[in-house]
Amino acid sequence: MPEFALAGLAEQVADAARVLTAPAAVDRLSKDFYWYSPVLKRQLAEKTGDVAVQPVNVEEVLAIARYAREHNIPLTARGAGTGNYGQCIPLEGGIIVDLSRMDRVEEITAEGVAVCEPGVRLAALEQEATARGFELRMYPSTLAKATVGGFLAGGSGGIGSIAHGMLRDFDTVRALEFVTMEDEPRVVRHAGAGVHEILHCWGTNGILTRVWLALTPAVAWSQYAVAFPTYEAAYHFAREVAESEAWTKRLVTVFEWPIPTFFTPVKQVMADGQALIFFMIATAQDEAFREAVARAGGQVTFSGAYTGPRTQPLLSDYTWNHTTLWAMKADPVWTYLQAGFSRTDCLQQCQLLRARFGDEILFHLEFMKTGDGQIIPGSIPLVRFTTEERLNEMIGYCLEIGMTIANPHVNYLEDSGRFRADNVQLLAKERYDPRGLLNPGKMLSFRPERRP
Ligand SMILES: Cc1cc2nc3c(=O)[nH]c(=O)nc-3n(C[C@H](O)[C@H](O)[C@H](O)COP(=O)(O)OP(=O)(O)OC[C@H]3O[C@@H](n4cnc5c(N)ncnc54)[C@H](O)[C@@H]3O)c2cc1C
Repeated sequence: MPEFALAGLAEQVADAARVLTAPAAVDRLSKDFYWYSPVLKRQLAEKTGDVAVQPVNVEEVLAIARYAREHNIPLTARGAGTGNYGQCIPLEGGIIVDLSRMDRVEEITAEGVAVCEPGVRLAALEQEATARGFELRMYPSTLAKATVGGFLAGGSGGIGSIAHGMLRDFDTVRALEFVTMEDEPRVVRHAGAGVHEILHCWGTNGILTRVWLALTPAVAWSQYAVAFPTYEAAYHFAREVAESEAWTKRLVTVFEWPIPTFFTPVKQVMADGQALIFFMIATAQDEAFREAVARAGGQVTFSGAYTGPRTQPLLSDYTWNHTTLWAMKADPVWTYLQAGFSRTDCLQQCQLLRARFGDEILFHLEFMKTGDGQIIPGSIPLVRFTTEERLNEMIGYCLEIGMTIANPHVNYLEDSGRFRADNVQLLAKERYDPRGLLNPGKMLSFRPERRP
């Protein structure tokens, strides 16, 4: 990036100290959890922005966008950098827009809609919401760090998805306001079905500056760890709880042995050689739940109240993609896939994979609701990495036996899941970022207008 452009950038924000040029700082703000994938680790390690800027309001974001557009400089948004696909890593340098200082919860309406800036941490929003009788419909296991903007632009669901589906379902995202990268950048608002043009686009077609996120009435939750002698028995009990409308639940995660051995801070919840299930169940159902566990031949190895994001231990810290983190801490040979199993043939698919790949793959299932109300077993299986070819062989086999894969070893939207078949994200990109300056290279089907 030319010198003059750096100097000019400082004029777009009220305090030049919020323009960061120190290489270590810029590199840190250019990176996320891309190293989760040995493939992306190799591809992206050297990629970095030229400069980072930390706007504090929408006017500054707009000024930065106008400046970037005027000088044809790529611009990449960043929340907390907990994405695991290299989503916020700039492939063509340029400006990193760190939105973490735009962190105001503006309002929580009486109907339970949070209106907030993009840099609000999800844990902070959960706390503000519960103080008003609401809670997040769902949150990623990165709750403590991740921002609302990053979740909407890069995430998909998590704890709570068993009841409320993914972010794209049930009108959870009511509206989005964002800054465009048109010839004249401006602030645009999309509401209703229009949010799907911008949602989960990795910041490729707009910089989110305000979001309207539907919450749900708060529930008093209990956390449970339940052990079963076999993975099959654990699966059947977890599925029964997940599918039955009688249970009020926020989390149903099944781990096969030896995955629980990776959870060193909560070793006490593990039962040697047994499969484990982590649940969040309404406290009002404690007694009935314990009875159901006993009837099914399970053993409660831990129970405790969820009292907010700082609860210790917080069992959700071991679920969803955090399972991968604990496995990698135990042994860096582990990586992962993001997979959807069949609702009816899940166990058979696990058996086929076990027969073909042995202990190169380990299963944990995250039960979740789909937009049409079905309960399905999603999964982020652990994979013992050897070569990229072997990884691709495993992906190919998963597809062959009827599973779905959102490939976490690619750095573009189309194959990583959530890219919409109706093409509205691409059409929005063509409209709002015709020159392809927003997070370039992440939407492969887009062809920028290479006008001077
Ligand atoms: C251990 C671990 C566990 C995880 N668990 C889950 C999980 O349970 N569920 C889940 O869905 N994800 C999960 N993720 C992925 C990630 O944590 C979530 O997607 C998270 O919500 C990202 O938030 P962030 O603020 O860190 O975003 P970032 O990583 O900073 O950004 C994510 C993407 O959004 C874009 N972006 C950020 N802010 C804006 C903005 N204001 N406007 C436009 N674009 C923007 C970035 O350019 C990037 O493309 C996990 C990741 C890790 C490492």
